[in-house]
Formats: sequence, structure tokens, C-alpha cells
Amino acid sequence: MAPGPSNRLVVLAGPTAVGKGTVAAVIRDDHPDVWISVSVTTRPARPGEVDGVHYHFVSDDEFDAMVAEGALLEWAVVHQAARYGTPRRPVEEALASGRPALLEIDLQGARQVKQNMPEALFVFLTPPSWDELVRRLVGRGTEDERERERRLETARVELAAEPEFDVTIVNREVHAAADELVTLMKAPLRAPSSSS
Ligand code: 5GP
Repeated sequence: MAPGPSNRLVVLAGPTAVGKGTVAAVIRDDHPDVWISVSVTTRPARPGEVDGVHYHFVSDDEFDAMVAEGALLEWAVVHQAARYGTPRRPVEEALASGRPALLEIDLQGARQVKQNMPEALFVFLTPPSWDELVRRLVGRGTEDERERERRLETARVELAAEPEFDVTIVNREVHAAADELVTLMKAPLRAPSSSS
């Protein structure tokens, strides 16, 4: 039986540098009952990242093959740099087993999931203010100035997508944002809309 409408599949998106990855990492540590999708990516692993835990690191050819097989629920090129995608089957298995499932993906990916699984709950993570987002992007210090400018421009466009989402969580403090998200994930299913 196909899973019925539920908010157990939660898609977390938001502008670059808002802290989506950190919120997901806190949930991974503090809420082991929540299943978190492990994406495939063509970017190289950073120090400390473990293949199969943080990402499945794959070659361009392997990524192409997954796209051709329809093995990805969604995929996108992020920051014009590398491809990222969500393996479809593990998501379906998590949902079938009744575990709350979380996808932490970029906006383009969230829009694709909305096409394929409109019954999912779409959560937008937003910074407390624009200045704070700039501070986080600069503070991270992992990008040079041109790259930072490009990401800020992307963030400006991405912030405008908030109305496409069901719920907004303001990321003032990472543990509070993570708790808010987990509470949403475990909340009773949404009441059916009047048309269903
Ligand atoms: P990073 O390379 O810093 O780990 O991630 C860069 C961006 O890729 C983040 O905005 C993250 O949300 C996004 N991302 C990670 N996994 C996926 C995925 O499976 N699909 C899509 N569309 N974006 C992803």
C-alpha cells in the first residue's frame, strides 16, 4: 500500500549558509529515531566527512547512471559546482517503515520533491535577519570573496522562496531550531484538506 498523505516526510530547505546542515547534524546526533537521507554528491569529501554517513561520494559517471536509472528522487547542481541528489529507495523504505524522514536539500531539489510528493511537509529555515546571514556566510570563511558574493546573491533570491513552503523556522539557535523541526515531524498527521 502506498503511504497516504502524511507530514512524516519533511523537506528542509532555505538559503545558503542559513545552517540547514548544522540543524540536520544536531538531529542526527540527538534524535536517532529520525531517519535522515544521505545524499549522493559529485563533490570531493571534506576533511572529517565519512562516505556513507555525510554523503555518498560518487563519480560523475556513477551520478549519470543513477539519473538514467531513475534512482534519484530529485537532483540539482548546487553553487554551479557539483551535483547532489536524493536516492529514492531509502526514502521510500523509511516511509514504509513509519519512521519520520528528513531531506536536507537545496531549493531546486525541494521544488522537484514538491512536484513528485506534494504531500510532504516543506519547511523553510530562515536566518533571524539578513545581516546575520551575511555574518554566517562570511564567518564560515570557506569561500573567497567572489564566491561569497555569488552565494549572497543566490541567498537573496532563495529567501524570496519562503512563501512556497508550509512552515518557516527561524534559525536563531541551532538546538532550538532542531527541536522545533523534530516536534513538527512527530506531530500528528495534518487533517485532510476539504477536497480529499
Ligand atoms: P555542502 O556541499 O556544503 O555539503 O552542501 C551544499 C548544498 O547542497 C546545501 O545547500 C545542501 O542543502 C545541498 N544538498 C545536499 N544534499 C542535497 C541533495 O541531495 N539534493 C539537493 N538538491 N541539494 C542537496
